[in-house]
Amino acid sequence: MEINIAEKPFWALNIKDVLAKLETSQNGLTEKEAGKRAKQFGKNEIKGDGRVKKILIFFRQFKSPLIFILIIAGTVTLILQDWVDAGVIFLAIAVNASLGFYQENKAEESLTHLKTYLKERTRVLRNGQEYEIDVAELVPGDIVHLTMGSRVPADARIFSESDLHIDESILTGESLPVIKNTKALSPSTDLAERLNMAFGGTLVVEGSALAVITATGQNTEIGRIAKLVASTKGEATPLQRSVQRLAWFIAVILLIFIGGIFALGVLSGQSIFDMFLVAVAMAVGAIPEGLPIALTVILAVGVEQLAKRKGVVRKLLAAEALGSTTLILTDKTGTLTQAKMELSDIVTVDELIKIDGTTYDSSRSLTALTSEQKEILKITLPNVDVLIENPKAKPGKWRIVGRPLERNIVQAAARSAIVLTSFREKVKFLSVLPFNSTNKFSASFINASDVFSHQSVRDKNFIAILGAPDILLERAHMKKDDYVAARRGVDTLAAAGRRVLGVGVMVLNGQNIVKDIKAKDIKNIEFIGVLSFYDPVRPEVVNAMHRVESFGARTIMVTGDHKGTALSVAHELGWDVDESNVLEGKDISEMEEKELIRRLEGIRIFARVSPADKVKIVNAYQKTGETVAMTGDGVNDAPSLKMADIGIAVGSGTDVAKDVADLVLLDDNFQTIVAAIEEGRRIISNIRKVTVYLLSDTLDEVMLIGGSLLVGLPLPLSALQILWVNFFSDSFPALAFAFEKNGDDVGLVSKKKKLSILAGEVKFLILIIGTATSALLFGIYWWLLNFTDFEEDTVRTFIFAAFGVYTLFVAFSLRSLKKSIFTFNPLSNLYLLAGVGFGTVLMAAAVYIPFLQKIFSTTALSAVWIAGIFGFIVVNILAIEVTKWAFIKLKIKS
Ligand code: ADP
Ligand code: MG
Repeated sequence: MEINIAEKPFWALNIKDVLAKLETSQNGLTEKEAGKRAKQFGKNEIKGDGRVKKILIFFRQFKSPLIFILIIAGTVTLILQDWVDAGVIFLAIAVNASLGFYQENKAEESLTHLKTYLKERTRVLRNGQEYEIDVAELVPGDIVHLTMGSRVPADARIFSESDLHIDESILTGESLPVIKNTKALSPSTDLAERLNMAFGGTLVVEGSALAVITATGQNTEIGRIAKLVASTKGEATPLQRSVQRLAWFIAVILLIFIGGIFALGVLSGQSIFDMFLVAVAMAVGAIPEGLPIALTVILAVGVEQLAKRKGVVRKLLAAEALGSTTLILTDKTGTLTQAKMELSDIVTVDELIKIDGTTYDSSRSLTALTSEQKEILKITLPNVDVLIENPKAKPGKWRIVGRPLERNIVQAAARSAIVLTSFREKVKFLSVLPFNSTNKFSASFINASDVFSHQSVRDKNFIAILGAPDILLERAHMKKDDYVAARRGVDTLAAAGRRVLGVGVMVLNGQNIVKDIKAKDIKNIEFIGVLSFYDPVRPEVVNAMHRVESFGARTIMVTGDHKGTALSVAHELGWDVDESNVLEGKDISEMEEKELIRRLEGIRIFARVSPADKVKIVNAYQKTGETVAMTGDGVNDAPSLKMADIGIAVGSGTDVAKDVADLVLLDDNFQTIVAAIEEGRRIISNIRKVTVYLLSDTLDEVMLIGGSLLVGLPLPLSALQILWVNFFSDSFPALAFAFEKNGDDVGLVSKKKKLSILAGEVKFLILIIGTATSALLFGIYWWLLNFTDFEEDTVRTFIFAAFGVYTLFVAFSLRSLKKSIFTFNPLSNLYLLAGVGFGTVLMAAAVYIPFLQKIFSTTALSAVWIAGIFGFIVVNILAIEVTKWAFIKLKIKS
């Protein structure tokens, strides 16, 4: 039997009725029931209407000025009953619109595809057991566990919560988080005031809750909005906009030029209609319409390639900015290190006090735990926030969901017969203050029990605290000497490269349950010991950092961890640093911005920083002109990720961080950041190539025709010929540039200057190629007409073919704007080969097929002419190569 949940105001019911209406319980659905509902309600996904989008993309093609000009021209020729011209013009319109549609649609699809890389997971209770499942599998009636930093997976009624704050700005536009509760409300309550509901797509910025899903997918509040907005146009990125502007700028200049040519032609006795057609065809060639489209394709292809290398760009904009990154501010744990977090030692406070630089044996490892070590581990467990998906299995076979550090504590405990599941049954605890990187510790209230044998807490209510040892020590009560000695002990462990966590307790004499622990109330701690973890560095990072340097950029470590641990990791990575290269959070928070900027010089590591410090750091670097990429994972990292030029969230981080990030690292790996920068550089490089390719061609064409008119020669190219060349020879190779692999020719990045598309070599090449080839072609044309007795038809066919084929082949030379054509494998871009091959076949067809000969007024060319064409191509390619070489020489001199 299917359940009916349509349009119930769940916020107005009490929880019992909500659960009854949804035919579920606080233990969740059974798997069987969930399966049945999945069939009834479908996947919990929000989709726009794909067809509407496609239709819109199609019609957008006709909005372009180019098509508009062509339609007018086509109509004029129809009125004049010039069927051949009309036919070719309308064919050109059809080809252009379908090509544009195909490309834009493909770009759109690859962006949609990107979303599937970012699989969202959620915690759900089924049969009383907590699991992590894909958000798409949720059904109404499911009980979800909302945790800090996660995205609410669908609309839900909250029935139990602790300090739950939700950021609903995506729905309501209100930027302050809403504090939620569980009380029933009046049915007429507005969306923004439904405090007992959590809405799909909003973000849990603090606290946690249990809630029952009331609507999924398209039926959620966000799903309804998405239906409306999915079909609207995606925003153009700044780069796309500036290219569009550039294209228009060029178009206007050339149109003025063409207007002049038109006037010149008419004055020199050409027929107005012929000149009109030539002007139209030239305008079509002159408007670099292909440029914005080629750009979109280059961006989309780049972004897709990067996703295969485990970096997901969330906005197209990020892809271009990435290439200009001058500074990477990277986290340490998980990004530079492997996040393996082996628990390597447990040190009691008495031992810790005795450790100094010389006495700690860093090879000491955990084999059998002493009873004291076991007690420390037990007191650690309440603060461990993990989920065991198969608690009935043997602890060695557990599937544990959670942070690596905490997963490791659970496994280490299990090896010493401290089994988390049975421990959780015996000890009632709620983690009331979860870990965050501002506090740097977590705290849990624990009811008195005899599970703990540690003399301080046995049979007493207490708060267990786990976190950065130096911070716990500051809040501990102990003798001054012991404090100093313990700090030294921690420093010694850290200097050995260990990540050190302190364990402490606050005994609550006679006090009852504390439900709401505040960080400031954690004081007078009894410090009982430390856990030390070993986290090896990722071997691939060393090379990746050299790559970064080869771009002219730098890497700086920004970590919440202890200075000693950070330095030790840096040394393992081969950095030449000591204490003088480290700045600590506590110093930063006291500094004025000016002071901080002054101190940046020489700093390689920021240690023990809080998220607020990170914002200051990013800001300071940006003020000095750096383009900053910064990593983050926690809820509190969102502001600095937003502020950075490139905000990078690690895949294992919170949804809140991913939500504001420009780039998500699926594998958390530093190497992926470098891959992303490489991809960004490749994108910039390819855009430059296409720009040179398309614009030099345009310039060439305009000058050739303008020149002929000036000296009173017959027009070398007819309108139809120009259309044929522009539509076929330009379009295919231009697209193939998106698949060029090499981005090494974009040059070094530097402060204050973003890598621009119109780099010096780009302008230089456009100008030189455009003028040189048109001059050469024009010279040949002039000579053939005046000093030989070849038929005019043959000569014009030759010019047409030479022009059409040469534009195809220079693409090979433009695969790098700096390196010589002989340094790369001509077969390594198959798209380009195919594009050039196809274009050549079309040119041959226009010259040799009788039917097309009539249309294009061509005659078959003999082998000698063909040899001439290839000679012309070779000369041109050599000329481009010399130009590239000359530019580099000139640049070095200047
Ligand atoms: P990192 O830059 O290494 O990622 P974090 O901000 O994650 O630094 O952590 C800062 C400090 O907080 C760590 O050095 C550690 O002492 C402590 N810490 C980290 N994770 C936890 C945790 N899950 N529970 C308690 N304390 C933690
Ligand atoms: Mg971290």
